[in-house]
Amino acid sequence: MDRAAIEVADERPRAPARVSQPGTRRAVRDVSVPISPSVRVPTAASERAVAAMVEGLERSGVSDPDVLSAMRAVPRHLFVEAGLSGRAYEDVALPIGHSQTISRPYTVARMLELLAAGIDPARRARCKVLEIGTGCGYQAAVLARVFGEVISIERIRGLHERARANLRTLRLANLRLVYGDGRVGLPEQGPFDLVIAAAAGDQIPTVWLEQMASGGILLAPVAAASGQALHRVTRKGSSNWTLQVLDAVRFVPLRDGLA
Ligand code: SAH
Repeated sequence: MDRAAIEVADERPRAPARVSQPGTRRAVRDVSVPISPSVRVPTAASERAVAAMVEGLERSGVSDPDVLSAMRAVPRHLFVEAGLSGRAYEDVALPIGHSQTISRPYTVARMLELLAAGIDPARRARCKVLEIGTGCGYQAAVLARVFGEVISIERIRGLHERARANLRTLRLANLRLVYGDGRVGLPEQGPFDLVIAAAAGDQIPTVWLEQMASGGILLAPVAAASGQALHRVTRKGSSNWTLQVLDAVRFVPLRDGLA
């Protein structure tokens, strides 16, 4: 297959939605410190912080009810280091070790809303999703609350293992983690209705396009000299894909091989 097979439907970058979050800072200031790194219980304060985070997402233009309820349900404080859990519901990226970050809540919600757009609720429950770049596992958990089956792949063993530990208490039976190089996708598990990448390459690997189901959607940041932009590809048929270039974004780079 040839990259030229991708028809460009709309190359104009759109301005990212504005993020304003009055109130969030005040609400998260009194989140309790976890009682131990392995036992982190939700408190009334963290419930208020979650509610403030979700209100901030709504003010920023996120409106998909499934996405908002998944963002409300997945406890982000389980995925950040214990010392940072007081900041878990701020709309910021935070370090997760190995020079990687957990994405901002707005980025996760916006990506999921773009992925889910136009898919009715009954079909969402039947969608099989491939996520490239598990990181700490947060977005994978949110995906598993919106879609039927999620397989997430990570190239850094330490992060893959951390994600497994972070996700244990959530018991998401429809989420599977794989340690491997996501640049080659997961040919033996495909085709995928949805593919979502959390790391930016300088182009979309052809194998990802080949692993999409017909009618499937792929969302991935792509790096260019002018910066990164979110690319949304729809597979229209066996050799017909269309591309839309959406928001300007900033993701970590998509890397080769295992670490
Ligand atoms: N999804 C995460 C964010 C992860 S950051 C969240 O919920 O916040 C992006 C991740 O992509 C990093 O963990 C990085 O190691 C991973 N990554 C980069 N290149 C990769 C590759 N080729 N295969 C799999 N994972 C990759």
